Amino acid sequence: MSRRWPLHPPPGDGEALSSWLNRLAEIYGLSVEELIRHDLVPPGTGPVVHDGGALDLDPPAGVLSALHRRTGVPLGELRQMTISGWVPWLLDTLDVEPEAEAALDTYVHQDSVLLTAKERPRRQVPGWRAWLPSDRRRGPMRRACPTCASTTTTGGSGFTLVSQLPLTLSCPQHSCRLEPALGALGAFIAWARQDTSATAAPAPVIAMDSLTHEGLRTGLVPLPRRRVHVGVWFRLLRTLIDELSTPVSLLRVRSRRTMQHLWDVAGHPPRAGMAGPWRPYETLPWPQQRMLLEAAATTLQLVKAGEVTAYGTLGHLLSPEAYRPVPDGSTPIQRRRDYWREIEDATNQAIADAQRDPAAARQLLTTLTALTRSETTFRRTREDLVALGVPDRHLPRTLTEAHARDTPPAMRTPSSH
Ligand SMILES: [Zn+2]
Repeated sequence: MSRRWPLHPPPGDGEALSSWLNRLAEIYGLSVEELIRHDLVPPGTGPVVHDGGALDLDPPAGVLSALHRRTGVPLGELRQMTISGWVPWLLDTLDVEPEAEAALDTYVHQDSVLLTAKERPRRQVPGWRAWLPSDRRRGPMRRACPTCASTTTTGGSGFTLVSQLPLTLSCPQHSCRLEPALGALGAFIAWARQDTSATAAPAPVIAMDSLTHEGLRTGLVPLPRRRVHVGVWFRLLRTLIDELSTPVSLLRVRSRRTMQHLWDVAGHPPRAGMAGPWRPYETLPWPQQRMLLEAAATTLQLVKAGEVTAYGTLGHLLSPEAYRPVPDGSTPIQRRRDYWREIEDATNQAIADAQRDPAAARQLLTTLTALTRSETTFRRTREDLVALGVPDRHLPRTLTEAHARDTPPAMRTPSSH
């Protein structure tokens, strides 16, 4: 029933699920739809592949566990080949919540980077989802690296998951710009422009993208001051983009000058040329999204170099030296310590460590189940960790096994063997 497929090349680094399925299907002379229908869903399931985006966004229930049985690739790794596997780090949820208008506000207004909170109006956008196209019928963005495409021998390299999002601009391997491509269901078909060739991305873009790629690979992003969880990084980046799109009329004089300088250095018109009413980043056409990403990369570079000061709550993370405002004689406002935030940060850090390090994974599971004697509770907690991307193989399978490992041999009773 669930035999391994005889041939199953492993997924590439950061490869999207549709792209890998397309490569697997090609080996057996099937289409992706046929491969899924024959082998990965129960008989009688309705159409599975409606469009190219659905598989990479949130594949039908059971497809990933069937794929795990067919290929042996751990479930946690398969989940990270889809957008839903990055919830809640990349975006809070894929579902439309009851307070759907508040999603944008929650994502980009909890913190600030360059500006102070007062300079940015709070916005309510129904149905908004971070980094994903607002028009749900719109297919995924298709971009690929010309060097990758010309050096693979097996008929195109497919697509990475992150290349489908307006989040990065360059290839992590070759540092050249990702170029618009035509594709269907994970398969690269052709370049959108005939004269496409590899072009080196600007240095600030390579620096910004390498932080994102590192975050996607390890769960942590090494900022100049300290490492942060990738979930913090995505929010920092999206907040900065929101600030760069803030209407100039709302800015204080100091911020106006900073914005003008940033856009001058980036070589694009202020607010990526947005003249009309404000629109969220996700609804903008790609050329404007590209300008905003380049301006964000320029900002990160100038803040790190000390040429621009980031006054927001996350700004201090971006420069190696602490920002010390000149005292003006007034009593400084004591910022309340946010214990909840600290616990959340520590939890995120522990999960990120567990994703990479088997010892950290074991320790996390042991801590979370220290007070239980129930195998069912243990199993549920274990499944939660796997769903959060902790590799299955890093975790003891049962409570008995976990206790046996933690107890020195001399202390074990005969029944614990
Ligand atoms: Zn490449």
